[in-house]
Amino acid sequence: MPLTETIIERIKTSGPITVAQYMELCATHYYGTRDPFGAAGDFTTAPEISQVFGELIGAWIQDKWQHLSASQSILCELGPGRGTLMKDLLRVTRHSGLHECTDVALIETSPILRELQMRTLKHSHRRINWYQSFDAVPPAPLFLVANEFFDALPVHQYVEDVERKVALSGDKLVFTPEGKVTRESSPLSVQMMTQIATRIKRYGGAALIIDYGYISDTYGDSLQAVEHHKYSNPLENPGDADITAHVDFLALERAAKDDAHAYVTIMQQGEFLTMLGAGIRAEQLCRNASPEQKERVLSAIERLVSPQQMGILFKVMMITSDKEMM
Ligand code: SAH
Repeated sequence: MPLTETIIERIKTSGPITVAQYMELCATHYYGTRDPFGAAGDFTTAPEISQVFGELIGAWIQDKWQHLSASQSILCELGPGRGTLMKDLLRVTRHSGLHECTDVALIETSPILRELQMRTLKHSHRRINWYQSFDAVPPAPLFLVANEFFDALPVHQYVEDVERKVALSGDKLVFTPEGKVTRESSPLSVQMMTQIATRIKRYGGAALIIDYGYISDTYGDSLQAVEHHKYSNPLENPGDADITAHVDFLALERAAKDDAHAYVTIMQQGEFLTMLGAGIRAEQLCRNASPEQKERVLSAIERLVSPQQMGILFKVMMITSDKEMM
């Protein structure tokens, strides 16, 4: 049965569903049934744009790992997509102790994407385990990365004090009540962040959360759907468009800092990648490249770093167990 039918049946039987329930149904169906990435898919993420992205993240993680000099640790990624970021990260760290001393833990619910990740990573590391959720990852010093993961987690929306729901008007899905969304929140994101930061604080480690989002107390409606690289109506084609919300970085920061007592810094993606040497790495890649390859490398870096493209919209939240690691 197409997801629209399932949702309509459910609303007919038990009444309107919250935006959060709607998002969860859509995301499970969407990621569970396809490889959505790249030009032929619906959207392109940073690791798919340039190998430099995963390489620089690898350098950052290796630096934190060295600081802690943990013998046995876990290298974890939330929602690894095609596995590209982890592949680039593992390649750049392959001669380091980090590689030897970590078990890789991938959190992925989609069977199709798990399969893809297995294929991408089969020669990258000897010990890779897949988990349904972060709870199941064994306790140990933790080095974690999540790119465009939190934006896929469900948000609750409110029109004044009333929770916004998805209802039926005839056989069409509509939002109720009508009116402007005044508040959005993602308790699941906050809960996950607290869990991760608590683990890091207790066993040592560091995390990078990268996503599009905002650093302010108010924002309003950020729910969006993307299909074939274009915005679409979130209530149309449920389960066949990527439905996400902007990440509330202040809420995540509060969870990591106040609830888990970890150390947090938030930067713009452009600033972060430049600080880690995106320009220098690009130059290296261009050294023996043909003019076309050069052009490709430079325009990819530009896309990741430039303020007009992903440089400002995307934020990087760094979390560490020790102040000196920041
Ligand atoms: N990090 C990748 C993919 C981002 S898309 C990249 O940058 O290319 C979101 C990823 O999170 C997908 O792999 C999706 O299947 C996974 N995902 C979404 N919701 C999830 C959940 N609740 N638990 C685990 N994985 C989830």
